[in-house]
Amino acid sequence: MPSYAHTLSSRLPQVGTTIFTVMSALAQQHGAINLSQGFPDFDAPADLLALLDQYARAGHNQYAPMAGVPVLREAIAEKVQSLYGLAYDPDTEITVTAGATQALYTAITALVRPGDEVIVFEPVYDSYAPAIELNGGTPVYARLSLPDYRPDWAEVARLINPRTRMIILNTPHNPTGTVWTADDMRQLEALVRDTDIVLLSDEVYEHMVFDQARHESVTRYSGLAERAFVVSSFGKTYHITGWKVAYCLAPRELMAEFRKVHQFLVFTVHAPSQYALADFMRRPGWYEQLKALYQGKRDIFRQALASSRFELLPCQGTYFQCVKYGAISDEGDRPFVERLTREHGVAAIPVSAFYKGGDDFGVIRFCFAKSATTLQQALERLVKL
Ligand code: PMP
Ligand code: GLN
Repeated sequence: MPSYAHTLSSRLPQVGTTIFTVMSALAQQHGAINLSQGFPDFDAPADLLALLDQYARAGHNQYAPMAGVPVLREAIAEKVQSLYGLAYDPDTEITVTAGATQALYTAITALVRPGDEVIVFEPVYDSYAPAIELNGGTPVYARLSLPDYRPDWAEVARLINPRTRMIILNTPHNPTGTVWTADDMRQLEALVRDTDIVLLSDEVYEHMVFDQARHESVTRYSGLAERAFVVSSFGKTYHITGWKVAYCLAPRELMAEFRKVHQFLVFTVHAPSQYALADFMRRPGWYEQLKALYQGKRDIFRQALASSRFELLPCQGTYFQCVKYGAISDEGDRPFVERLTREHGVAAIPVSAFYKGGDDFGVIRFCFAKSATTLQQALERLVKL
């Protein structure tokens, strides 16, 4: 086909295909066990699938209201109030989105202007910086350092200046599994108190917090919630990453701006899924079960790898486990995961993909949201290395 490529000037010259797509494709090509891209290899609950079918057959197949179907927004409001104690108005402060990715992009687009700075924490989830840049903003990187990847609040304080429009936080954190503490939230609260900085809190792993730790949602802190977009995803919570349904919470004035963008980005989200989720969400006990499920998988994974040559890094939340592989190889993390996939049949994510400059600390990320059989097969291969 004739190409006009020579006339194109890319808006994202440094960006290629996401590492998740690249590694999943490589896993498939080599028939490897895919512990790279984050998604479960087991199915969603049968009752949830039955509800989807039921609502589709009952005729809920036309455009849902722009902000999401009212029953789902009400169920979200009840959940947030019962878990974190804050009341969001379903009419004006909650919007259902096509995945967390869209919610993040929409919030950034609604707020960030050319010349604005947005502080992100590195290693950083891959969608944030391109979304900031496409809106003319500049990502500013605060470092989370090995081995525990805790935020350095003195550094954040130094990075804040009059151009700082937004800070994006993510707890539990992908890829490192770090969970921020109450002290972290208070430090952040103090730093933003006398500023007009808006927060964007990515809490998609809110229900995967292990041991004695508690999920410190921004919604628990009035000095944070008053200025925050809070994003969660049903994809993670109900094993339905392919449905792409999530939500955003924010005070009325911020949400009004969010919806101005949302209505022209997607307008509205898949209707039958929303009814099915509204119904399913009200069933008791799910969050406790989910946490126990993933804590069990984390423990099996860590126990087996403890006897391997991989060095385990802490994992307090998410369904990801990071490891150092320096005792096995001195390759870069990208060639190492490629060889692991090709020669040993297990795919992982090189953590350098989460650094702007591709910084390579010899750390890779495994996803343990997999069936017992898949985990066992993968572990048998990994402990031999
Ligand atoms: N934020 C983080 C930290 C994630 O890990 C993911 C997906 N794995 C997303 C956002 C995107 O979620 P969704 O699939 O709902 O768009
Ligand atoms: N967020 C998932 C991960 O970290 C992948 C989502 C995606 O493929 N974009 O693996």
